[in-house]
Amino acid sequence: MVNDRSANEVLPYVPARSGGLVLTGADAPARCRAIRNAYPGTVVVMDHESHTRRTGTADTPFGLKTVHGWRDLDLAGLDEILDGQRDNRASCAVTPTCFIPAEEAEGAPVLAAVIAQANQLRRDDTVVLLPCSWRWLRRSALLLLAGQIRACRHPVALIMQADGDPLERDQAAEGLRQLCRSCPRLMLWRTDLAAFDAMGHGALGAAVGVAAVLRHGVAPRPGNGGGGHKPHPVVLVRRLLRYHRVATLQDWFAHVAPWTCDCAVCKGAALTRFTDREADVIAALQHSVCELYALHEELDVTLTGDERIGWWRQQLADAWEYHRLLASRTGTDIPFPKVLQSWRRPSPMALPGVEEQQGQQRSGPS
Ligand SMILES: [Zn+2]
Repeated sequence: MVNDRSANEVLPYVPARSGGLVLTGADAPARCRAIRNAYPGTVVVMDHESHTRRTGTADTPFGLKTVHGWRDLDLAGLDEILDGQRDNRASCAVTPTCFIPAEEAEGAPVLAAVIAQANQLRRDDTVVLLPCSWRWLRRSALLLLAGQIRACRHPVALIMQADGDPLERDQAAEGLRQLCRSCPRLMLWRTDLAAFDAMGHGALGAAVGVAAVLRHGVAPRPGNGGGGHKPHPVVLVRRLLRYHRVATLQDWFAHVAPWTCDCAVCKGAALTRFTDREADVIAALQHSVCELYALHEELDVTLTGDERIGWWRQQLADAWEYHRLLASRTGTDIPFPKVLQSWRRPSPMALPGVEEQQGQQRSGPS
């Protein structure tokens, strides 16, 4: 998931077979058209980010910011926007869904309206975007969310919103696992390494944000532009299964030889080398994309179910060892992140009343 301004920088590192781009930003339609014209085999779709600007209502769950201001969308308007995405050569259409607040904040009628209206669309080229508060992952709301996702005629892309990492919230990591096990056509968008935990538990695919702001949903604000990356370099440290600021790595490795990386961008160079210069910030971005797809390549050759979860568990066990190793080598306190802790717990079963998904396809492009 990338802002249209950075799309060309990451594109060369996106594998055509298993990868793709979800574009955000004002020029996403033009960028989508240009990329798809040049690379017809690459999957490119758009998220208009209506959820970062408006909270949905039961009457108008879909809407769009246009050059003339905000536009509420009825069913005909929604169809027109989805057609517009396809006219700009998007691989499939994505609903411009507004933010869905928590159940206790009157979110249930909004969620129901999104699914009911989407089910009236006479098209088979559409992904329904569900940008939800993280609170939907709690036990009290999860069955309702799963029921709505399963009632949807289209594949669903879930975005979890929170201030900070949604999966650090109470019950959220377990809830997401149950949801992925219980809903056959679910994807996780605007996320981070949670993509792998979700796909391990049956999600069809995921879209990982290249910038921190694109790695979880944000509360709607009229001024939200969304998607711009900050000028300091951030890298995915694959051994730690975590994004870190390069400044943090420089602190850790101040007195010992830094970790190096063998990806196509780094070619054996140190992860601490990136400066605040624009070229370095871009190179750090490209490194992270390479490492993400390297990890995905490993996931992709596993069979869904136990083998895939076993592979993911091994990654987490290795990450735990690397945290310990790094702490002892550098003499620094490097805590094992809360989210990684929660992923090391045993996997929950599918939701009651829902048959576990069996024999799913291998994770598809997204
Ligand atoms: Zn690298």
